[in-house]
Amino acid sequence: MTSVAPTQDVKPLKYLQGYGADTLAQVAQLVAGQGLGDWLLKRYPSGHGIRTDKALFEYVQDLKQEHLRGAEPLNKVAFDSKLQVVAHALGTHTTISRVQGNKLKAKREIRIASMFKDAPPEFLQMIAVHELAHIKEREHDKAFYKLCTYMAPNYHQLEFEVRLYLTHLDITGTRLWAAAVTEN
Ligand SMILES: [Zn+2]
Repeated sequence: MTSVAPTQDVKPLKYLQGYGADTLAQVAQLVAGQGLGDWLLKRYPSGHGIRTDKALFEYVQDLKQEHLRGAEPLNKVAFDSKLQVVAHALGTHTTISRVQGNKLKAKREIRIASMFKDAPPEFLQMIAVHELAHIKEREHDKAFYKLCTYMAPNYHQLEFEVRLYLTHLDITGTRLWAAAVTEN
């Protein structure tokens, strides 16, 4: 059971490039049978419940205190509904340098795509760890992933599952784990 009927209208798995052929075949099969959403919900039954930028800031700040105490302080952490999640940038991290008096002051901001508002705690942890690691490591290189797995030992599995969810969103447009209460 490793082949996918070529006639199926399956979009290319753009968020999963770089994973093995066997894995991709399994995912394609779940997608073809419309079982990916159920698979994700079964694995992660509920969302994390963090609804505001203030609560998000505290959450990320706590993670930072636990694992990256010495790193530069964070000025802002926010959900961003305009942020389009693309394959290689799950969130954004910016350092705005500005001159204050005669000093160059760095302002560190982390923006997290609002799709992570409706997500299980593990997915929020993954994206927070990812963006925190960028405080120290700019590139997605070995040192970067080492830092990610230091903060979340199952980081790679979590990133894979977040990519599965991105795939689900791309295909169906339906958010899982949407909050029971309406927002706005
Ligand atoms: Zn990154």
